[in-house]
Amino acid sequence: MIRLVIGLVAITLAGLGAAWLADRPGLVRLDWGGWRLETSVGILLVGLAALLALAIILYRLWRIVRRSPSLLGRWRAESRSRRGERAVVRGLVAIAAGDARDAQKQAREAESLIGAAPLTRLLAAQAAQLSGDPAEAEKQFEALLDDDETAFLGLKGLFAQAQRRGDSAAALVLVERARTLRPDTPWVAGELFQLQVADRKWADAEATLAQAVKRKLVEAADARRRRAVLLLARALELEADGLREEALKRARDAHELAPELAPAAVLTARLLWATDKVRQADGVIEAAWAAAPHPDLASLHAQIHDADGPARKAERLDSLINTNPGHGESRLLLAERALMAGNHAEARTILEPLAAQQPTARALDLLARLERAERGDERAATRWLAQIAEAPPPAQWTCGRCGHVAARWSPDCPACHGFDALGWRVPGAVPEFLPPLLQGSSSAAPTDPGAFAPDALTGSMTARPTPAGPATD
Ligand SMILES: [Zn+2]
Repeated sequence: MIRLVIGLVAITLAGLGAAWLADRPGLVRLDWGGWRLETSVGILLVGLAALLALAIILYRLWRIVRRSPSLLGRWRAESRSRRGERAVVRGLVAIAAGDARDAQKQAREAESLIGAAPLTRLLAAQAAQLSGDPAEAEKQFEALLDDDETAFLGLKGLFAQAQRRGDSAAALVLVERARTLRPDTPWVAGELFQLQVADRKWADAEATLAQAVKRKLVEAADARRRRAVLLLARALELEADGLREEALKRARDAHELAPELAPAAVLTARLLWATDKVRQADGVIEAAWAAAPHPDLASLHAQIHDADGPARKAERLDSLINTNPGHGESRLLLAERALMAGNHAEARTILEPLAAQQPTARALDLLARLERAERGDERAATRWLAQIAEAPPPAQWTCGRCGHVAARWSPDCPACHGFDALGWRVPGAVPEFLPPLLQGSSSAAPTDPGAFAPDALTGSMTARPTPAGPATD
């Protein structure tokens, strides 16, 4: 609007000026060095205005030319940065594809284009890791520590390198440093827990678990089970050191937290029995049997009542069976009880359908004993026994992660160190080897133990999926 007004005023003034000049015609004459210029005042003024306009246009052009190097520089820098970013993306894709050579090429190109930025350092470190150059990877990760923004990434990378070297002391220091930077990170809590478990620092692992629960990094049910396993681990050590009272306290806590954890119930009942607390021991075994029957519970129960009279023995056995009468283990006990009491018909009605459903070695062995006891039929007994060779293998303490079969329960798998990975299951149901992604294990630590390890990609602190089917402990 203002411009329009100014324009109108200028045109009006120019018109008035032209009219004023037309009313006063005059002549300008210029004599200079043999040249003569003769013109009217109006033309002279128009000529001067044209000269002024030309000067302005030339000045503008000169300014553009003078600024052009910086414009060109800026354009060049932007282009380099775009090409650098593309190199980083291509490098990341190469890493995802496992192409170490291309990843290194892209890392070098990215660095030449955009310098040692955090992203290029990270790419270079990962490319070095992929091509098996730990020294270069560590150099790059250490450089990331200088910047507060990238220090956590640097620590995580150095931690992975330490894990690969098998240097758990260095790994522990690094993860402790990472905790000061990001205490709420599931990865920190998960790795700390695993290192403490691998180091048999049960109390420290319990403290880490308590912190993780407080920060809501682990679900309540999962935390309860983990705590039970840690308590049982300590109880077993205390028992080995001869500290039975301390051991009993922890074993009992473990049993109360996880009644389905048979080894906790067995230890608790055994320690109670050792101090003649037979009724309490029976109560523990029955609670565990109700949650998850296990042969170790039955065999301890039999030991406890070995010296009892037949009536008392049968009464205690009934009490145990009645806590979980439909379970296969209960039915085997019932058949054994009938066989012992000479109730052959009852034993047969239990065993024959059981052997048809689940032809386990124990059921077949009991049937052979029944044939001998009832009719003295050695040939029938041999027929049953011959079937044992084809019977499915009995359940054993089998790792849900690596399939290792252990002779006895332990808090972590003796082979892969997976925390609470041993379950009472049929071996072979678990694949011997699963690719890391399917196991949900951290790519940073291929042998890392424990189940609340964060996934390297998601960083979530979830329980590792156990590839096996249902299992009882
Ligand atoms: Zn294992």
